[in-house]
Amino acid sequence: QSQELSQARIDYHAALLALQEHGTRMVCTGKMHTDRICRFDYLCYCAEAEEFVFFHSNSSFMLPNLGPRRFQPALLDLSSVEDHNTQYFNFLELPAAALKFMPKPVFIPDVTLILNRFNPDNLMHVFHDDLLPIFYTMRQYSDLDDEARLVFMEGWGEGAHFDLYRLLSSKQPLLKEQLRKFGKLMCFTKSYVGLSKMTTWYQYGFVQPQGPKANILVSGNEIRQFASSLMEKLNINTQGGGEESAAEEKDEYIVVFSRSINRLILNEAELILALAQEFQMRAVTVSLEEQTFPSIVKVISGASMLVSMHGAQLVSSLFLPRGAVVVELFPYAVNPEQYTPYKTLASLPGMDLQYVAWRNMVEENSVAYPERPWEQGGIAHLEKEEQEHILASKEVPRHLCCRNPEWLYRIYQDTIVDIPSLLEALRETVKTRPNLKKAKPASTVHPGRVREPQCQTSVRATNEAKLTVSWQIPWNLKYLKVREVKYEVWIQEQGENTYMPYILPHQNYTFSENIKPFTTYLVWVRCIFNKNLLGPFADVLMCRT
Ligand code: UDP
Repeated sequence: QSQELSQARIDYHAALLALQEHGTRMVCTGKMHTDRICRFDYLCYCAEAEEFVFFHSNSSFMLPNLGPRRFQPALLDLSSVEDHNTQYFNFLELPAAALKFMPKPVFIPDVTLILNRFNPDNLMHVFHDDLLPIFYTMRQYSDLDDEARLVFMEGWGEGAHFDLYRLLSSKQPLLKEQLRKFGKLMCFTKSYVGLSKMTTWYQYGFVQPQGPKANILVSGNEIRQFASSLMEKLNINTQGGGEESAAEEKDEYIVVFSRSINRLILNEAELILALAQEFQMRAVTVSLEEQTFPSIVKVISGASMLVSMHGAQLVSSLFLPRGAVVVELFPYAVNPEQYTPYKTLASLPGMDLQYVAWRNMVEENSVAYPERPWEQGGIAHLEKEEQEHILASKEVPRHLCCRNPEWLYRIYQDTIVDIPSLLEALRETVKTRPNLKKAKPASTVHPGRVREPQCQTSVRATNEAKLTVSWQIPWNLKYLKVREVKYEVWIQEQGENTYMPYILPHQNYTFSENIKPFTTYLVWVRCIFNKNLLGPFADVLMCRT
């Protein structure tokens, strides 16, 4: 019966009555516009005015009810890029009674996720700003399932990677421009507006120079779960059957991701030969100009090393197997430490990738294009003096996004890669030969609190005292196989602002050094698995000698 209900075509008359009676209803999460996602019943969109409309009736509601603060600066961010003033969402308000005078609405029965893509022609932006946030927003709200409809409101055409967006649900995503054909007024029966920012790791430098986000909340596990889901939809199997995968493991190879339009590697053939020789592996090239993206993903998902000039195509390292090496090449005068979207990705905990940056330090090995249009790094349009300043500079100073001419001039240079210096950098960092077989995901199970912590004290003499602290193992330890279990004890003399930390192998210890008679000590105890998985501290002990 419930299936019949969901399959049933929406009853137009009933929907119209519901809209007129109940109006629009909204409930949101988030305290600020930057962390808000809203769920609506009967949110409408007027294509003519290019505005969303909230219809007030006796039974509509709007939480948070911000009054005019809804415009300071907006209700929410429609893209995953934080607080970008071209990406704000808001709606107009009308009384439901106004519907009588308006064109008949068209209802969209699908559960809909409404958002802005940030830059759908650039692969890094596609993955980081759109695909990952959409994927995890859909997992946050269970009715955003495989049948959900995505609506992209940024106003762009499909873009170069629309097929990737299509993988996220079984329904064709709608573009803003296509909304017109539904008539002058359309109403989304159930919709979510906004995107989770939980998976983003990089800020592009709109208010401060670009860099990793201050508080990264995603780990390699979530990135890899997303990558697996995408590969499954592309019919790329990562772990083949037993024998097959054993054969694959023997056939290790290096992938050079080349750009064929700009920011070229000018001695690519030489580079490939050198890499193959150094690591005794096959080396192959891929490029977005010559292959489909799924075929590239297939190659990368089995590679031991991915080598590429800095650029959006390097986001594809999220498809590399654990243990693989990412090698990012930077043109002359570009400091790798200031442009780290791919380093940050590779270094996420649990991503289990090795990362190496190499930078061209030899100006003669660089070919620049001062005559090109400004967006491809041309500088001919600038004042003579500014041009000379850029030409003389040996490193692009820190700058904001996105039109810094010195940055664009340098980043769009072609490069002859100095092979000895690259191999040197590789040998320095890639200590162990990349070994995919060994790279199993490390456990991320944290210890619970230690139980029944206790202290006992004794005074031996006027200047000699002892403090014995003991505890029981955390409750979850008995269900786990843990390589190394240690305990950390902090001892602080009451009133002092420093403490002494100790790492201990057993469940009790007697401290006698630095322990004074007739003194109160505060003692904290926690468990540590495998050196770096910290548990919580147990309640503090007050121990009086
Ligand atoms: N691109 C490419 N080959 C090229 C130049 C660009 O595949 O020769 C791709 C690039 O990977 C990205 C998009 O085109 O997805 C835009 O490239 P752009 O240079 O504007 O951005 P960047 O790579 O510096 O982020």
